[in-house]
Amino acid sequence: MTAAVRPQVLVTPAEVRRRVAGRRVAFVPTMGYLHEGHATLIRAAREAAGPDGLVVVSVFVNPMQFGPNEDLSRYPRDLDRDLTVAGEAGADVLFHPEVSTMYPEGYSTSVTVQGVSDGLDGAARPGHFTGVATVVLKLLHLVRPDVALFGEKDWQQLAVIRRMVRDLNVGVEIRGVPTVRAPSGLALSSRNSYLTAEEQARAAVLSRALSAVQAAYLAGERATAALETAGRAVLAGEAGLSLDYLTVVGGDMQTREMVDNDPMNRVLVAARLFGVRLIDNMPLDPGAA
Ligand code: AMP
Repeated sequence: MTAAVRPQVLVTPAEVRRRVAGRRVAFVPTMGYLHEGHATLIRAAREAAGPDGLVVVSVFVNPMQFGPNEDLSRYPRDLDRDLTVAGEAGADVLFHPEVSTMYPEGYSTSVTVQGVSDGLDGAARPGHFTGVATVVLKLLHLVRPDVALFGEKDWQQLAVIRRMVRDLNVGVEIRGVPTVRAPSGLALSSRNSYLTAEEQARAAVLSRALSAVQAAYLAGERATAALETAGRAVLAGEAGLSLDYLTVVGGDMQTREMVDNDPMNRVLVAARLFGVRLIDNMPLDPGAA
């Protein structure tokens, strides 16, 4: 087997502009420390770009989306491994800008997507989605992709980005990619690296709770409170777990009543386990999607 070609690393906006000019571009924004979930997005981007297109992956740990007491300084980083993973998945270019390039002295603009950003992670992490929307809009302007791919793992983030792109006429197709999981059910995440193998095995309880809500829904339950109780029962008594939310939502991220058979009906969970905040979600009816 021949080694995969490592992507070309570009660090300045001018280099990126030159590289993407005239090409069909599929884009995967990330914060790096790439895992199989990211690789799945990059393979989908390869497919979306076509044989003549360009697949661009960005690796940028965006300070604007971290709160003052969050894990910005210890967020895991390994650019060398990211190049291998991105190359094997089919990336052509890895864009790795400096913080001072993205937010130079005097930087003063931000993008807030109201409504969809307000609840759940937006409530738990004030300013987080403003940081996400701002950096994603900047990256979309820099890379000018035809298609940009995001994981359903971050369901509320995907909703925020779809709304921003629609509201601001960004002119890019946004594609969501289903969550990639470990065999235990645990959703892959760069933050899982903060946990030991044993703690990761324990953290799979989050996906079991979501599956329990899904099972209740598929058995015909539609009452929001009963669905949420089915999930919380799985988490109850789990040592070392502090629940932030376990919530069912309808298509617009704010409706709590289930419109029957809406493929956007979703159950979302956020919890702190062994000191690490993890999020996950599942469709209530996987067959309806
Ligand atoms: P991050 O590096 O965590 O900012 O994630 C970059 C992109 O990868 C986002 O669109 C995430 O939703 C997506 N992603 C992260 N984990 C997964 C996963 N387990 N399955 C699918 N996509 C994922």
